Amino acid sequence: ISSLELTKAVIERTDSVEPKVGAFLFQDPEDALEMAKKSDERRAKGETLGELDGIPVSLKDIVAVENKPLTCASKMLEHYVSPYTATSVKNLQNNGAVLWGRLNMDEFAMGSSCENSAFKSTRNPWDVSRVPGGSSGGSAAAVSAGETIIALGSDTGGSIRQPAAFCGVVGIKPTYGLVSRYGLAAFASSLDQIGSFSRTVRDGALFLKAVASYDRLDSTSVKIDIPDYASTLSVDSLKGKKIGIPKEYFVDGMDLEVRAAVEKAVAHCKGLGAEIVEISLPHTDLAIPVYYIIATAEASSNLARYDGIRYTHRSDKAHDVVDLYFKSRAEGFGEEVKRRIILGSYVLSSGYYDAYYLRAQKVRTLIRNDFSEAFKTVDVIAAPTTPACAFKAGEKSGDPLSMYLNDIFTINVNLAGLPGMSLPCGFNSEGMPIGLQLIGKAFDEQNLLSYAYAYE
Ligand code: GLN
Repeated sequence: ISSLELTKAVIERTDSVEPKVGAFLFQDPEDALEMAKKSDERRAKGETLGELDGIPVSLKDIVAVENKPLTCASKMLEHYVSPYTATSVKNLQNNGAVLWGRLNMDEFAMGSSCENSAFKSTRNPWDVSRVPGGSSGGSAAAVSAGETIIALGSDTGGSIRQPAAFCGVVGIKPTYGLVSRYGLAAFASSLDQIGSFSRTVRDGALFLKAVASYDRLDSTSVKIDIPDYASTLSVDSLKGKKIGIPKEYFVDGMDLEVRAAVEKAVAHCKGLGAEIVEISLPHTDLAIPVYYIIATAEASSNLARYDGIRYTHRSDKAHDVVDLYFKSRAEGFGEEVKRRIILGSYVLSSGYYDAYYLRAQKVRTLIRNDFSEAFKTVDVIAAPTTPACAFKAGEKSGDPLSMYLNDIFTINVNLAGLPGMSLPCGFNSEGMPIGLQLIGKAFDEQNLLSYAYAYE
């Protein structure tokens, strides 16, 4: 079919399901149809086409697009219009992708349910009384409900993999440094990474090829050749490979249906010729405390730029400049964001820095070493993405700690900078999707995607 037909179908689908799902913050149907027409013209003229040429792609509302709003689902940026375009988005534009809409998220990517958005709460398309996960909940829900073909997301501690698991789609978080962060509103700069949501591994591979690039505007961007991931996917790729199963990820108290589905998925990989070995990642239980020190520390510093003076919400009730800072930030930021700024400022303050921040950095090294040790003997690690399936809206919103525990299996991967993905691997008895997480060696996306493709 033509890009125009595909784009129209996606827009129609969105019109019919969006009232229930609520995945979008903005839609650009005219722009999208225009881009689709241009793609069809390129095709008709026989021009070389990009991997995503003519394909509707939507963006988590955390990446900058010139002359478009960028809210990060925060009141702080409600009226902000970006003066420049993120490198990741430029790459998608140059590739011919049809940019269609902007997706809801937890405010500044802090959360696991999409309920921290200042504007709306997105629901899980499989059961609209449940959350889609977060923070990229809009991205996961939109792909799952057929409102876009591919969605861009960002993952700091699980924000791509957890919602992908909750919504039954493929979520990919690449190695730190593979995709440029220039133009991605920063949450925790040493952990943030851009990735994708799609229905299939192949679509995710095409997206990664299109979006990844070395970028001198991101000092942590890595200069490597980007392989043609989609062309090397092989159904035989798991033959003779060693899959490590971390024993710390299968603990008492985890959801038994999740456990059973993941064990079944592992058995399926064995049937495809893989060898299954038990491994140990001994510092797994330290990941959550370490993450909530490092991520909040970095967030407190990154979010200092939203001061009410430059480009953000500005309180009209202030009587002097200090009061302006206080009131603008008090009015502009939501509860969770404030909680993180306070926590982050605390762990960085003199007297506590050594006890918390410095120690967390040391434990981060231990966590990274656990993975390096494991990858001496295995090719890939398989585990659950989340300890349980999508929960009911409102169930955890008053209990930040239980919300934080949702990321227990995903956070380590960010602390170690590794690539990880979530693949649908079945449903629980209530019909909610379950995710299988595959974790690869750094910059080994080519193999990781191929293993995922073989499983799928
Ligand atoms: N849920 C985690 C948090 O709230 C992870 C968020 C993310 O990856 N952006 O910080």
